Amino acid sequence: MENCIFCKIIKGEIPSGKIYEDQNVFVFLDINPITIGHCLVIPKEHSDDIFDTKDEALKDVIIVGKIMSERLKEKLGATAVNLVNSSGKDAEQGVPHFHLHVIPRYGNDELHIADWWQSKVKKFKPEELKRLAEKINNS
Ligand code: 5GP
Ligand code: ZN
Repeated sequence: MENCIFCKIIKGEIPSGKIYEDQNVFVFLDINPITIGHCLVIPKEHSDDIFDTKDEALKDVIIVGKIMSERLKEKLGATAVNLVNSSGKDAEQGVPHFHLHVIPRYGNDELHIADWWQSKVKKFKPEELKRLAEKINNS
C-alpha cells in the first residue's frame, strides 16, 4: 500500500535491519526494541490487522515467528519469547500493517510482563465464566 511505512520497508524505500525474507514474509528489527533482537514479522502482501489478513498469510507469519524465535535463542542466547500482536485502534496498534512482534526474553531482562498482566485481571465466578462462554460459543 502506497503510504504504508512497512510496505516501504519491504520495498527497501526505508532502510531496516532485515533479518529474514522469503516469498511471502519479511522480518526486520524493531526500531525501538523492548529487548535485544525484538523484531517484527510481517506478510509482504499488505493487510491492516488480523481481521484483514488471509488465513494463509497468518500461517506463514506464525511459522516464520517460530523460525525467528529459534534463531534468537541460537544466535543471541534468548531463553524464551513473547509473541505479541495488536490489531485495531483500541488495542493500541501503532502501524496499520499486520505485524507479529517477536520479543526475545533473557533471564535478567527485568521486563515482568506477568506483573502488568496480573495487576489488571478481573476475578470471574464460575457461573459468570459459563455465561460468557455460552455467549461466545459457536454452538
Ligand atoms: P504496534 O504498536 O503497532 O504493535 O508496533 C509497531 C512497532 O513498529 C513499534 O514497536 C515501533 O517501534 C515499530 N516501528 C515503527 N516505525 C518503524 C520503522 O520505521 N522502522 C522500524 N524498524 N520499526 C518501526
Ligand atoms: Zn503495508
